[in-house]
Amino acid sequence: MKLIERLRADFGRFSFAPNDICRWLPEENTIYFAEDEAQLLHELGHALCGHRGFVQDVELLRIERDAWEKAREIGAKYGIEISDEQIENALDGYRDWLHERSKCPKCGQNGVQGRIGGRYRCLNCDAAWDANDARQCALRRYKQK
Ligand SMILES: [Zn+2]
Ligand SMILES: [Zn+2]
Repeated sequence: MKLIERLRADFGRFSFAPNDICRWLPEENTIYFAEDEAQLLHELGHALCGHRGFVQDVELLRIERDAWEKAREIGAKYGIEISDEQIENALDGYRDWLHERSKCPKCGQNGVQGRIGGRYRCLNCDAAWDANDARQCALRRYKQK
């Protein structure tokens, strides 16, 4: 039986829907998945961890790591191995992306992100910019474009 069919049977409390982008959408209680089984498990990891989004970018990395750890735990039960390297690679994609996000659009220095609203501010030139349009796992795909 295919992984997705087993997951559908074992995790009936979530909906699973094929899509071109993998993501967990808490508002719809739905896991969207593509071909990548590790990524599918990762999204399920988000669902099982109860992730609902994030405010600060630093939280994103923690959320992503938690979802991968969960994915590895579930994967083991289904005979799918997720290596440390695979997890670190995925997280590196986020790190690069976050680094870009924090860069000041005016002077190129790295800004700091406020606790409320996720808005960045540059300490060098005082520019401010929004970076709260991010959506968990869609980021990775977005970055690859
Ligand atoms: Zn600046
Ligand atoms: Zn994720």
